[in-house]
Amino acid sequence: MAGGEEGHDVEIPRGELVEALYGTVRDEVEFVFDDSVDTLTDHESGVDVTFRSGLRRGFDLVLGADGLHSRTRELVCGPERRFHHYLGYCFTIFTVPNTLGLSHEALIWNAPGRAAALYAVRDSGELHAFLTFARPRPPYETLRDPAARRELVAATFADDGWEIPGMVAAMHRAPDPFFDTVSQIRMPRWSSGRTAFLGDAAHAPSFLTGQGSSLALVGAYLLATSLAAHHGDHTAAFAAYERDARAFVERNQAQVGTGDAALFPTTAEGLERRNQRLRGLTTAPPRTGRPAHTALALPDPVDAGGPASATHPAASH
Ligand SMILES: Cc1cc2nc3c(=O)[nH]c(=O)nc-3n(C[C@H](O)[C@H](O)[C@H](O)COP(=O)(O)OP(=O)(O)OC[C@H]3O[C@@H](n4cnc5c(N)ncnc54)[C@H](O)[C@@H]3O)c2cc1C
Repeated sequence: MAGGEEGHDVEIPRGELVEALYGTVRDEVEFVFDDSVDTLTDHESGVDVTFRSGLRRGFDLVLGADGLHSRTRELVCGPERRFHHYLGYCFTIFTVPNTLGLSHEALIWNAPGRAAALYAVRDSGELHAFLTFARPRPPYETLRDPAARRELVAATFADDGWEIPGMVAAMHRAPDPFFDTVSQIRMPRWSSGRTAFLGDAAHAPSFLTGQGSSLALVGAYLLATSLAAHHGDHTAAFAAYERDARAFVERNQAQVGTGDAALFPTTAEGLERRNQRLRGLTTAPPRTGRPAHTALALPDPVDAGGPASATHPAASH
């Protein structure tokens, strides 16, 4: 995550955010690690869950927060392809030694339809290496095969210079480079029966928006306040959560630029225009109106369930 308000840059690596959230609730919530849900049976008074380990438990409600490729969503609402919107790019991300001595900065290389970045979160001995490329149709089969997806990336960047040959070599050596398509999740409803979805499982916006973690946190907060306000009535709580969060989520999902507004244009002219836009960001006058990422007032926990009247701006990324 990177961002900030009024000159205060904030970079929170995902792992640190998870540690902070976990540390806050670890003594109040039961955590079960190294297991996952196998089956869910929704009935009038609860949900029966079986886990891969063989454990069987009953719960009042199930909240699926298991990411873009949510298994919970698949079990309850059907296959991912119903909700998955491919945005035309694939990417891989892995770490490399910080031989360039970067600190709090990113170097980005671009060609039409391809981009590479080396990104230093604060001062670290490691850099995040990122390679992304346009692909009109999603290569789902290739991405399922670890050797084939490495080969796809290597072939795509085979003729490129800069730091890319070293990055591709590092990708081959990396134990577990992360590959995926750049995609959004768009569901017509975020709940079914006693199960509700939040975060990427419900509405992944893709990293092109830089808003995924913020949407996940804002959604979790709104869901928690709705459940507290409509205690004992999960149907009303889930409906209120969706009513309060959906417009904000969709506004942020719409931040993905396409065509001329694309972050990674596929033509030389598009790339030139994008570069001009980026140069202009440092000189442009402040925008008027409220930007999408703060276009929501969160309810105060004490007036949970009331209209979104209090004035805590939604988190920036
Ligand atoms: C390259 C990249 C850069 C990004 N940059 C930014 C950024 O700068 N700012 C920003 O706000 N967002 C960014 N995002 C998006 C952000 O990472 C996500 O939107 C955010 O992590 C979503 O949170 P989540 O909790 O919903 O899902 P996740 O963070 O995906 O967490 C889901 C969790 O569920 C677990 N899980 C999955 N399946 C199962 C299962 N079957 N059983 C048990 N557990 C399971 C996973 O292990 C994981 O811990 C970026 C994403 C990518 C890929």
